[in-house]
Amino acid sequence: MSEDLHVPHDDDDDEARFAEAGRLLFARGSDFVMGAAKREQLPPMGAPEIAFAGRSNVGKSSLVNALTGRRTLAKVSNTPGRTQQVNFFTVGKDLTLVDMPGYGFAQAPQADVRAWTRLVLDYLGARQNLARVYVLIDARHGIKNTDEPVLDMLDRVAVSYQVVLTKADALKDDEAAARTAEVAAAVARRPAAFPQVLLTSSRTGAGIPALRAAVARLLAERASAH
Ligand code: GDP
Repeated sequence: MSEDLHVPHDDDDDEARFAEAGRLLFARGSDFVMGAAKREQLPPMGAPEIAFAGRSNVGKSSLVNALTGRRTLAKVSNTPGRTQQVNFFTVGKDLTLVDMPGYGFAQAPQADVRAWTRLVLDYLGARQNLARVYVLIDARHGIKNTDEPVLDMLDRVAVSYQVVLTKADALKDDEAAARTAEVAAAVARRPAAFPQVLLTSSRTGAGIPALRAAVARLLAERASAH
C-alpha cells in the first residue's frame, strides 16, 4: 500500500471545517412546517432530523431560535396545558429540526404525562431519519428527577442522544465547568448517550457555534455511513 494513502488526521482543521459547515447549515433559513399531535399526523420522512427535548422552561424555544437565528421560530414559553405537539421546522433543504413537547410540569395530570409519552414514543419509533435527540438540561440544576425517565426511555429505544446544558450565563465559569463534568459523568453510564456534553447560552450565544458544528459533523458522519 502506498504511503500517500495515509492522510494525516488534523483535529484543528477538522474542527474549523465543521464550525464553518455548521454556520452555513443554519444560515440557510428555517421555516415552520407543521405540528403533529398524534402518530397519523407525522409528516413523511425526508431530510435527516435532529430533535430537541427538555423540561418545560429549560430554554428550548430560546435555543432553537438562537440556533436558527430567528427570534420567533419556536414560541418562547409554551403555555402549560396547550395541546402537546411535535413541531417540525426545515433548516435549508438538508435538515429538519424537531421541537418535542416540553415535559415535567409540576403537578401535571397523569393523563398529560401518558399523552406526552405516547406521542414521543410514536415519534421516536417511527423515524429512521432521526439522527440524534438533543436533551436540554438547565446548567443551574443539572439532571433532575423529571429528566431521568426521559433519558431511560431514550436508552431503552436506543435512539442516539446528546445532553446540551442551557443558561450557562447564569453560572460562573468554574461552576459551569464543574456542572458539565458532573453531567458528563452521569451520562457516561448511559448506553445511548453521546459522551460529550455541550454547554450553551442562548442569551450570550456561547456554545451555539459549537452546537451547530456538532450537528454538521453528525450529518457528515451519517451521510458517509449510508
Ligand atoms: P422552554 O419552555 O424550554 O421553551 O423555555 P424558553 O425558551 O421559553 O425559556 C424559559 C425561560 O428561560 C425564559 O424566561 C427565558 O428568558 C429563560 N432563558 C432561556 N434561555 C436562557 C439563557 O440562555 N440564559 C438565561 N439566563 N435564561 C434563559
